[in-house]
Amino acid sequence: MFFSSWQDLFVVVISPSMNTMLLAALNQIKDTSLLLSEDYQDKKQFKKAIEMVLTPQKIIKGTLSIKDVNGKKKTFQAFRIQHNDARGPFKGGIRFHPNVCEDEVRALATLMSLKCAVAGIPYGGGKGGVVVDPGELTKDELKSLSIEYAKLITPHIGEWRDVPAPDVNTNGEIMSWMLEAYEKKVGYQSPGTFTGKPLELGGSLGRTEATGQGGVYVLEAYAKAKKLNIKASTVAVQGFGNVGLYFAKLASELGFSVVAVSDSSSGIYNPKGLDIKAIISYKEKGGAFKDYPLMKGTKLISNEELLELPVTVLVPAALENAITKENMEKISVQVVLEMANGPTTTEADTYLHEKGVDVIPDILSNSGGVTVSYFEWVQNLSGYYWSKERVNDELKVTITKAFTDIDKIKKEKNISYRRAANYISLKRIIDAMILRGRV
Ligand code: NAD
Repeated sequence: MFFSSWQDLFVVVISPSMNTMLLAALNQIKDTSLLLSEDYQDKKQFKKAIEMVLTPQKIIKGTLSIKDVNGKKKTFQAFRIQHNDARGPFKGGIRFHPNVCEDEVRALATLMSLKCAVAGIPYGGGKGGVVVDPGELTKDELKSLSIEYAKLITPHIGEWRDVPAPDVNTNGEIMSWMLEAYEKKVGYQSPGTFTGKPLELGGSLGRTEATGQGGVYVLEAYAKAKKLNIKASTVAVQGFGNVGLYFAKLASELGFSVVAVSDSSSGIYNPKGLDIKAIISYKEKGGAFKDYPLMKGTKLISNEELLELPVTVLVPAALENAITKENMEKISVQVVLEMANGPTTTEADTYLHEKGVDVIPDILSNSGGVTVSYFEWVQNLSGYYWSKERVNDELKVTITKAFTDIDKIKKEKNISYRRAANYISLKRIIDAMILRGRV
């Protein structure tokens, strides 16, 4: 017996009033479950498992209160959502942003469960958030807020329970404040409770480059599977922050011709290939691309034009929703490697798949970051620290295996990379839940 429709399967309510990101995450699970139901004899058990994956295990929320510079009380809403820990401790970043809301944190926690399962690392998924514009806080206020947040989540986290990390507007310094607050409360050292820490407090070598490096390993594995000639392949990268910069650097070192890069001010294009080293040193001095000193053959282009270039590999590494129904027909590349989270809308994704463009999904392409966070935790638990070479070697092994597993399912089932990645991750989570007897 197969399930042919979503309604056959679930009673969990997916309400149109949910935020778009949460709807998209739950719809991905819905879509994948119809494909996956063929693999499970016990349909009742399968249905229960899917219902559990659609719902987070625990929602922690509270109001954080701090004193501002004038001694006045300021309050902030805060969340930690623990989605699923069947495969290992909850894992996921903490976001400080004015647009944070419960639905968004829930969506991101769900996607973390899928991402960790795709990468094959022994974690579940979680996410945290505080509704705040950190740009409006003094450094002392930011520190107080971080400490109050750590106090809120302390009873629910721990190296074998839930391991937070930085996300949008949080960083190693904030992790250090939170770690100190956590350790004070529990009364012992526990560096493995937070990742993304500075090296001095047990951070890992290679973490800064990890997401870009992981993306390059995915692309290398794809090139091998598709017998793509790396030296004859061109690449355009949208976004030149932590992810885009290291991706462009490492891809060009591997032999790809990076012909276009951009930041929020402008794009730079040279069909014969850009001097990425020179661009990085310009960027490190704080320059915006709109003012980049152009050499012969190089010109400025808009971010929209960058996405429409006839290159082999298009790499959105800036924002969500970069490829939409507005520009999808103008995309003429062999492969889109999603380094940003959610850069392709569902409609554009379906269109590109039907047109024969491979879209390698974010949960695989940018999983290098969480994979090196896992290596940081492993090093903290053992108290022994690896060289950067070892970090990169282990990253390559993990990422290449993740790609190979997905490529195999893609070919076997004749589906897109995205559906294959979702299939594998959901199957791994459900199998762990069944083994534990949770369903
Ligand atoms: P970042 O803030 O360091 O860099 C963002 C870059 O995008 C900057 O160059 C900025 O100028 C550019 N940008 C901003 N608005 C733009 C626009 N409208 N058009 C074009 N470019 C624009 O961020 P990051 O850490 O590099 O993250 C980039 C993406 O990757 C995000 O979607 C993030 O969620 C995702 N991601 C990051 C990591 C990580 O480890 N940093 C891990 C997984 C996923």
